[in-house]
Amino acid sequence: MPQDVYDKIMMLCKRRGFIYPSFDIYGGVAGFYDYGPLGSQVKNNIENLWRRFYVLKDGCIEINTPIITLYEVLKASGHVDEFTDLTVHCGKCKQFYKVEDILEKGVSVEEALKKNLLRCPRCGMVLKNVSPVNLMFSTKIGIGEGRKAFLRPETAQGIFTNFHFLYRFAREKLPIGVVQIGKGYRNEVSPRQGIIRLREFSMAEAEIFFDPTNKTHSDFEKVKDKKLFLFDNEKEMKLSLREAVKNKVVDNQALAYYMYLTQEFLLSAGVDPKKFRFRKHAKDELAHYARECWDAELFSERFGWVECVGIADRSAYDLSSHIKSSGVDMYALRRYDKTKTVKKKKIVPNMSTLGPLFKEKAGRIKTLLENIDVTSEVDEISVNIDGEKIEIPKDCYKIVETEEKVSGEKFIPHVIEPSYGIDRILYMILEHNYMETKKKEEEYRVLRLKPGIAPVKTGVFPLVNDDKLVEIAKKIDNDLRDAGVITYYDDSGSIGRRYARMDEIGTPFCVTVDHDTIVDNTVTIRDRDTTRQVRKKIEDVVGYIKEKIGFLV
Ligand code: AMP
Repeated sequence: MPQDVYDKIMMLCKRRGFIYPSFDIYGGVAGFYDYGPLGSQVKNNIENLWRRFYVLKDGCIEINTPIITLYEVLKASGHVDEFTDLTVHCGKCKQFYKVEDILEKGVSVEEALKKNLLRCPRCGMVLKNVSPVNLMFSTKIGIGEGRKAFLRPETAQGIFTNFHFLYRFAREKLPIGVVQIGKGYRNEVSPRQGIIRLREFSMAEAEIFFDPTNKTHSDFEKVKDKKLFLFDNEKEMKLSLREAVKNKVVDNQALAYYMYLTQEFLLSAGVDPKKFRFRKHAKDELAHYARECWDAELFSERFGWVECVGIADRSAYDLSSHIKSSGVDMYALRRYDKTKTVKKKKIVPNMSTLGPLFKEKAGRIKTLLENIDVTSEVDEISVNIDGEKIEIPKDCYKIVETEEKVSGEKFIPHVIEPSYGIDRILYMILEHNYMETKKKEEEYRVLRLKPGIAPVKTGVFPLVNDDKLVEIAKKIDNDLRDAGVITYYDDSGSIGRRYARMDEIGTPFCVTVDHDTIVDNTVTIRDRDTTRQVRKKIEDVVGYIKEKIGFLV
């Protein structure tokens, strides 16, 4: 079978230590890959570049929360009920398929079922038993009955459930950007797309909390004339951020700004601009939490356009769900210029009856009751806990009229979420920068990785294995490492072979110490992409290379 670029890259990855199939000695499992020594470096570099954009430039704060996530959290977020894929089973082949993977484009599931179009890709049998299957891995906390839990399907919920702490940390001022980089888990039905569809993958997510009356960004003015590459499912267009927002192609300034930041990040990481676009979600493909969503899609020869980042306006969905089901006050405050005195009707819970009646739920009910806005005459009071409507008997509370000094108006912040899949981005960067030529009838491969992303920044070679040359080369190698530049020292094989080994793993520079070095204290520095060599004084090598790399991530 002829190899396509995916096969070639994955072979290179395995041979040179970027990516290995997990559990290989036991036959491997679809949807799991290990990062080898070079792959781990590239992944770190991508994540650290991402931090430069989100933490350093945009001022987001970073947190870290558990992978094992309580049932209650994911029930409230809607994942328990809605995080499903429509799946079909072939009894003969004993195979499950994601309906979307075997459905012809443009045909609806209903139509496919009616006209017997849904067939097993292996045996061709007509398939009928379509059902939604939840994608979360479940587990439990503790022994015995324990507490129900899941491996998180996204890192975002760890941020939402901390909002009240983070709001205080940010001195109660919005917008607040919070990021988390970590693993996400989805028990994909039948992952057949290698590194593109994983069951355990790395995500970098940002949740930016806004006052819904002010979805702007302080840097919007600076970038408003920059162009976004947009695709609205019919045509591609290049629009400035200003035009996109003005014409309502993108809903608001903040969303447009984070799309721009995403575009900048991806291009800085080495994505080919010709293989990049933002695609708007059609109404019927929006996730359960999203109001508007744009995917940053990258083009791959084998997989076509692949979603690598989802940028969603999640509105108040998550926080309001968590407030409802936890009863914890996670509102923000829109401050008035001056404190106002207002007449208010308030519910005052009566804990002496509420407590014995509702036991462990009483605390949550109390908070919920205190937060109910009593604007009109009410006969009945009820609250919602874990999806259950609970009527509160009259002897559990009093309604009192009070005068209160209020400094502002409470509201639930809206959230804009750029959510990045690091593994997909990593693969796409490899594919977009993979070049193949022939040298002396042999395949010659170059990975044109950006210096900041390359796992090794500089190869250091003595031209021949001569004590003096080796000593100088080792000293240069040490100096570079002391300056934070990852190097690869190599003194074996012809110099051409050594360059080839470095080109194949994307090393942008090679320093060679030769006989002239002993005479004039200079070395050659070879550039991977032009293959041109310049001579530099030994003492200038570190400075020259650091400048060329730009910054170290
Ligand atoms: P989503 O929450 O579905 O929008 O996913 C956010 C990002 O995670 C996507 O843009 C992908 O880059 C990545 N992602 C989602 N599912 C997978 C998967 N099964 N394997 C690898 N990456 C994934």
